[in-house]
Amino acid sequence: MALKRTKIVDIFSPELVGEQVCVKGWVRTRRGNKHVQFIALNDGSTIKNLQIVIDLEKFSDEELKPITTGSSLHVEGTLVASQGKGQSVEVQAQTIEVYGTADPDEYPLQKKGHTLEFLREKAHLRMRTNTFGAVFRIRHHLAFAIHKFFNDKGFFYMNTPLITASDCEGAGDMFQVTTLNLGDLPKNEDGSNDYSKDFFGKPTSLTVSGQLEGELGATSLGAIYTFGPTFRAENSNTPRHLAEFWMIEPEVAFNDITDNMDLAEEFIKYCVQYALDHCKDDIEFLNQMYDNTLIDRLQGVLKQDFVRLTYTEGIKILEQSGKKFEFPVKWGVDLQSEHERYLVEQHFKRPVILTDYPREIKAFYMKLNPDNKTVAAVDCLVPGIGEIIGGSQREDDYAKLKARMDELGMKESDYDFYMDLRKYGSVRHSGFGLGFERLILFVTGMQNIRDVIPFPRTPKNANF
Ligand code: ATP
Ligand code: MN
Repeated sequence: MALKRTKIVDIFSPELVGEQVCVKGWVRTRRGNKHVQFIALNDGSTIKNLQIVIDLEKFSDEELKPITTGSSLHVEGTLVASQGKGQSVEVQAQTIEVYGTADPDEYPLQKKGHTLEFLREKAHLRMRTNTFGAVFRIRHHLAFAIHKFFNDKGFFYMNTPLITASDCEGAGDMFQVTTLNLGDLPKNEDGSNDYSKDFFGKPTSLTVSGQLEGELGATSLGAIYTFGPTFRAENSNTPRHLAEFWMIEPEVAFNDITDNMDLAEEFIKYCVQYALDHCKDDIEFLNQMYDNTLIDRLQGVLKQDFVRLTYTEGIKILEQSGKKFEFPVKWGVDLQSEHERYLVEQHFKRPVILTDYPREIKAFYMKLNPDNKTVAAVDCLVPGIGEIIGGSQREDDYAKLKARMDELGMKESDYDFYMDLRKYGSVRHSGFGLGFERLILFVTGMQNIRDVIPFPRTPKNANF
């Protein structure tokens, strides 16, 4: 009977020492001398490589020739305690089958120490490196943690549409979805495009947020969360923006702005704790390789309460800082990343939840405060990134919402479903959106959002 494969992540358990094992994976390195050769084998299940020891009396040069960096192997042999340092066990190879070779003159991941920029060009192979293996294992565990967090709290996972006819909040420029022939568009008499001929009979786009539909779920099921792809055609080439990213949007009936902040803080801390508990090896690797303050920073987040501060107070601090910002601050301006980062990194040195922004710079659906100037917005800012969460208590008063939409020139008829919510059993409710990739940036300490999603979409880049 064929020996069952053991994943490398499971091979370091003491009971297996002395046993016959079967392992499969890709060669990271091969080194050695005339008597013995060592292969570092990795199968993606862990950042750890397994050392395969090859006695050159048992294998011919011909057999070993195709075993080069990047080739894939099936190895059987005895697992023994390792004499060398750097690993606790190793496999003394008895049989080696080469599944696939990787021509050393062509395989791009030869040299050690490729730059992250170089690896971005090789996104189809970069997951085979230590760094990206670590990042994408952490990405998985965080996704799982998010579902677990909400499930354990009794939230329902809701899937909101990706194709939409409503421009939610104008959160960003949208990608149009059409089956019309762009080279030969059907026209109305006035020369405009005749969308009645389009697939949905009207203009449609990819969603920039599932929130509006999420609110419908929350005021029916009580508490929901979405977790899905989100698209923004913003032409901002920054290390924190993608054209296609994943967003988590909880929405809860009966929650006010304070409940919303409590949820946001608990949620972020839960994800950080989960990653520290379940991704220890990978986080330690990133801490050692890129940013030796990472683990301290993550542990710090768990220990401290997030600062809660109004926008107005935040502006005062920024004005009094004496710092020359690229974008000058005064009450009424939208905060830029440099402002957000000053507050969290220099002033408070911990995460900050900013609330009560001027209504003019926030979306139409945010609850108007009694001062008639500000709305019940909450943005959560973290070190190294700035905004990671944006949310609010929603306007649940029909008349006030209608008045705001009129001011902005929005047509009520485009939002029938949304207005119905304020007509039938309207209740206080709140929610927020967390950018999944921003959370991964925060937890991994990576600097560029293109490095925390397997195949990033950014302006002029949709490869793979
Ligand atoms: P920013 O000001 O950083 O562009 P935003 O205020 O436009 O973000 P929201 O509409 O509040 O973003 O979206 C909620 C969350 O989604 C943000 O806090 C952020 O974490 C994430 N997010 C928004 N836009 C992007 C993007 N283009 N790429 C990745 N994540 C994003
Ligand atoms: Mn925002």
